[in-house]
Amino acid sequence: MNPYGNLSTQHSSWSVLLVVYNLPPWLCMKRKYIMLSMMISGPRQPGNDIDVYLSPLIKDLRKLWDEGVLVFEGFHKETFQMRAMLFCTINDFLAYGNLSGYSVKGHHACPICEEDTSYIQLKHGRKTVYTRHRRFLKHHHPYRRLKKAFNGSQEHETVRIPLTGEQVF
Ligand SMILES: [Zn+2]
Repeated sequence: MNPYGNLSTQHSSWSVLLVVYNLPPWLCMKRKYIMLSMMISGPRQPGNDIDVYLSPLIKDLRKLWDEGVLVFEGFHKETFQMRAMLFCTINDFLAYGNLSGYSVKGHHACPICEEDTSYIQLKHGRKTVYTRHRRFLKHHHPYRRLKKAFNGSQEHETVRIPLTGEQVF
């Protein structure tokens, strides 16, 4: 996020929010149950140094998973051993790269397609652009036949089955 709005487009601060997810859906997205666990101030993005910032959080989450912590429950007026786990992360593609260690740049940037990642290099900007996304649609999806709205050709190929976690390593 950029705390300065559009005053400084270069500034990048990263916030790490924890959401208590075992609450009813109408409560878990309320501000009260979303914790700002850390704020990594800019002006530059932390990149892979995010590990240094996340280390204490991971340590706490490990403790919450392995042994838990004793917590007072006000309604029944008693204590209980509270455990917690990291259920999922929501982040942009850049942060995904930093968190997972997967390369999200270059010719194999897609973690699903890997070597089959379809890209073209723009002639003048020399940017890498990722293409052929209609192959992820259902076989008879009408978009697969559209030419004009896309790159002038139909797309009938299918995607390969994504690798399992063990196959990636
Ligand atoms: Zn892909």
